[in-house]
Amino acid sequence: MQGSFTGAMEAITAAINENKEFLTDLDRAIGDADHGINLSRGFNEICARLKASPPPTPADGMKSAAMALISTVGGASGPLYGTAFLRAAKAAQETNPAEPKNAARIFRMAVDGVEERGKAVRGDKTMVDALEPACEAFQKAAEEGLPLSGCLEAAAKGAEGGAEYTKTIAARKGRASYLGERSIGHQDPGAASVTILLKALAAYCRGAE
Ligand code: ADP
Ligand code: MG
Repeated sequence: MQGSFTGAMEAITAAINENKEFLTDLDRAIGDADHGINLSRGFNEICARLKASPPPTPADGMKSAAMALISTVGGASGPLYGTAFLRAAKAAQETNPAEPKNAARIFRMAVDGVEERGKAVRGDKTMVDALEPACEAFQKAAEEGLPLSGCLEAAAKGAEGGAEYTKTIAARKGRASYLGERSIGHQDPGAASVTILLKALAAYCRGAE
């Protein structure tokens, strides 16, 4: 693969920036209208740090990304995405994270981290509703022997289905839970951002192969 961790993060950041208004609008409906703003700030900071101090390994890059998110994103999503990257960094040490089976294990650790930190389960209408089906689809694709881009494309599809599903349920975690049943009909912003992130990563990997 010709890609790099920094290149992948730049591709994700471009997609988050493009969807900043969309994500903020979703959060306006059931939260406090800052999800796109939060993530755009966080991912732009990740790129700035990676550029200023190029990471020797992908695991170092993941750790740097985690720190950028935790320190610059005020909302719930900063510590949650930050935890995902921190757990991924830990799992990626001494492995080749571009190897699909390793990547599947790293993805699982990252999702477990989000669930431990946020205490949300599937059906609570959070990013977990996109992360879980994405992680399962990734694992299955890796077991079937698909290349990294194919695994990520499967994961993005899984996330998209999960994000759609969040429209049909009431929130039980995060700010949207204050709305209860009134959150039904709206897509969860965090589930939407997970989908955007995975689609961008899949497209980047496909282009780098
Ligand atoms: P805030 O809610 O603090 O304004 P953001 O708007 O950036 O933060 O992020 C909101 C998103 O964070 C939600 O759409 C949801 O997906 C996710 N989220 C909030 N609380 C939790 C939680 N406890 N577990 C998992 N995800 C959560
Ligand atoms: Mg918000």
